[in-house]
Amino acid sequence: MAADSRILAVENLTVTFGGVHALNDVSFTLSARRIAAVIGPNGAGKSTLFNCITGVQRPTRGTVTCGGRSLLGQRPHQIARQGIARTFQNLALLPESTVEENVLLGRYQHTRTGMLAGMLRGPRARREEREQREYVGGILEDCGLAPLRYEEVRSLPYGVRKKVELARALVQDPKLLLLDEPMAGMDSREKAELSDLVLRYVDDHDVNVLMVEHDMNVIMGLAEEIVVLDFGRKIAHGTPGEVRNDPLVIEAYLGA
Ligand code: ADP
Ligand code: MG
Repeated sequence: MAADSRILAVENLTVTFGGVHALNDVSFTLSARRIAAVIGPNGAGKSTLFNCITGVQRPTRGTVTCGGRSLLGQRPHQIARQGIARTFQNLALLPESTVEENVLLGRYQHTRTGMLAGMLRGPRARREEREQREYVGGILEDCGLAPLRYEEVRSLPYGVRKKVELARALVQDPKLLLLDEPMAGMDSREKAELSDLVLRYVDDHDVNVLMVEHDMNVIMGLAEEIVVLDFGRKIAHGTPGEVRNDPLVIEAYLGA
C-alpha cells in the first residue's frame, strides 16, 4: 500500500517521562478502515499516543504521519487544520459558555474572516458567523443537543457534556477523528446512543475514527481494527476476533 494512502502511520514512537516509558517503540499503520480502536489497561499509553498525533506531546523518538505527511514538529492548531480532530479524556470545555459557543470553537479553522473580524462585525463576518451557526446547528441536531443549544455547559450532566465535546470535534469536519474515552461515565443507554451517533456520522462522512474505549462490548461492536497497548508497548493489532483470542491480550486484561 502506498504510504500516502495510509490514514495514519506511527513508527517506533517512544515517549519517556523521567524514567517511565509512556510509549515504548510503538509502530502501526491504520489503513482505510472506518472505525479503529486503541485499547489497553490504565496507564498503557493511549492518551499519550493521541497527544503525540495531535501535537500536544512531542515524542522522545519515532514518527507520526497522516496521509503520508509527517506531523512531527507541527503545532496542535496546524495539525487540526489538516483535518485531525480529537476529544480529550478529561473534558476540555468552557463551563460558563453555552453549548453552542463551545461547539462553535470547533469551527475556528473553517472561519475565513477570523474571530477578531467577527467581533468587529463587518457584513462579511456577520454572514460567515451566521453560516457557522447554521453548520453547528446541524451537528447539534444530529447529536440530539439542539434543545440544549443555549444552555450553559456547567448546568449539564456529565454524559451530555461528553456529547458536547464530541459535537465540537465533529463540526471540524475531520478526516481523522480521535476520541479519547468518549463514553466514560455514561450509562448503557447513553453509550448505545453515542455508538449509533458515531456509526451514523461515519456512514455520512468521509472520516476515519480512532477511539480509546474501555467497554469491550462497545469496542467489539464498533471497531473493525484494534491496536492493544500495555505498559507503553503494542502487544497486538488486528480484527476484534483476532485481538480477543490473542494470549498476550488475555493476559494483559486478566492477569492485571
Ligand atoms: P492511558 O491513557 O493508557 O491510561 P497515559 O497515556 O495517560 O495512559 O499514560 C501513560 C503513562 O505515562 C502513565 O504511566 C502515566 O502516568 C504517564 N504519563 C502520562 N502523561 C504524563 C506526564 N505529562 N508526565 C509524566 N508522566 C505522564
Ligand atoms: Mg487515557
